Amino acid sequence: MEKAITVKELHVSYHGNEAVRDVSFSIEQGSMVGIIGPNGAGKSTLIKALLGLLPKDKGSVRFFGKDPEDMRKKIAYVPQRSNIDWTFPITVMDTVLIGTYPSLGLFKFPRKKEKALALECLRKVGLEDYRDRQIGELSGGQQQRVFLARALVQQPELLLLDEPFVGIDVASEETIVNILKELQQDGKTIVVVHHDLSKAKDYFDQLLLLNKELVKYGDVEAVLNQEVMSKAYANQLRFLQEAEVAL
Ligand code: ADP
Ligand code: MG
Repeated sequence: MEKAITVKELHVSYHGNEAVRDVSFSIEQGSMVGIIGPNGAGKSTLIKALLGLLPKDKGSVRFFGKDPEDMRKKIAYVPQRSNIDWTFPITVMDTVLIGTYPSLGLFKFPRKKEKALALECLRKVGLEDYRDRQIGELSGGQQQRVFLARALVQQPELLLLDEPFVGIDVASEETIVNILKELQQDGKTIVVVHHDLSKAKDYFDQLLLLNKELVKYGDVEAVLNQEVMSKAYANQLRFLQEAEVAL
């Protein structure tokens, strides 16, 4: 079976400052992988470069053995919440409908079919009754669930989520995790940039530890190993302690 993601020798920089250096890895279809690493490690940069939202200095990316451009419709992305303008005047329903645009084609507007699907996805995340609310009125957890619904509408084969659990309530986190696990059981591939190491063992099959370079990629226990972690988190003691507890 083709790998869901194959990355080879990826380099990404901002104005000459390297943020991701020589990263290579592949992700099996149907797995749920956590990307961890200190602040500024290049996690968001990596995800954006995979999606073609940032230019690569060097390297190649394939999704399901194909050119990313050919797979765009089947790949959904939930950006880091802090990078979204939540004051933008748009309803919950319209936010979710944006997820149907890639498959609609030019100059077509969502119709009955898309709206029904959007509503079904809102139901799945428990926000059917919020469809006419402004997105800015919702709590952090509700906003994150709306963005998951927007991704679900795309009926993706691969989902990339950037720190989806930051600043949200426990119930929302549980709802999101359950949906992700369901998708995984359906054979979908899930990649999550993640902060809270205590949940890593429950959530993920594999972890990818990034610190500009790829420090370690493998089973959760192997990556949370103290020696490996201390390499990446040398000056972030809190994470080392968390890793110890998580094991
Ligand atoms: P992470 O998501 O792991 O916290 P980022 O990918 O956001 O890390 O950032 C990696 C590095 O790139 C950091 O040093 C950050 O300051 C830098 N960086 C991120 N975005 C930009 C940008 N738009 N312009 C310049 N530098 C950036
Ligand atoms: Mg980030």
